[in-house]
Amino acid sequence: MREDAFKLTNEEKIDIIKDDVQHILETLGLDLTDDSLKGTPNRVAKMFVKELFGGLNPDRKPSASTFENKYQYGEMLVEKNITVYSTCEHHLLPIVGKAHVAYISNGTVVGLSKMNRIVDYYAKRPQVQERLTIQIVKELQDVLNTKDVACVIDAKHLCVNSRGIRDTESSTITSEFGGKFKDKETKREFLDYIKMDTSF
Ligand SMILES: [Zn+2]
Repeated sequence: MREDAFKLTNEEKIDIIKDDVQHILETLGLDLTDDSLKGTPNRVAKMFVKELFGGLNPDRKPSASTFENKYQYGEMLVEKNITVYSTCEHHLLPIVGKAHVAYISNGTVVGLSKMNRIVDYYAKRPQVQERLTIQIVKELQDVLNTKDVACVIDAKHLCVNSRGIRDTESSTITSEFGGKFKDKETKREFLDYIKMDTSF
């Protein structure tokens, strides 16, 4: 990101982007006096700044509250099927998928939903899936003070599924294995857990 990324307030950004969206739609020949389109520039601008790309703002980063591992639980903890809604930075089209995250505690644990929040925070940016995977692992390594963190993401990219090659079935898998997860057996255990097809 640029140094001056946060010189403008959210409201100022929304104001500028609103005009840009309006310009795009007008250039395409649409009639913006139409009731259905009238509010679109403002809606899109707000959605960009506050939702889809809200994770660019460090203020939105989930707070790093951790707990002591009182139960002396020494095995890996896996949070699987975390929903990923992101946006591909090459086409600004949705990336939709699941993240599976695991760690082995070295004395510190996090609340389970914290892992979902961290995934969502980094997803809410213009992204590439490889970077997203690495950012999630790095953040959890920092928060948990251990290298023993892993993440696998399986996601569909609408830029592949709905345009260009239009392959609706393909999905993209990325992975990052830190510390003990680089060991064959630990990696195998994690991959076996996320393979389980549990239905609730
Ligand atoms: Zn793309």
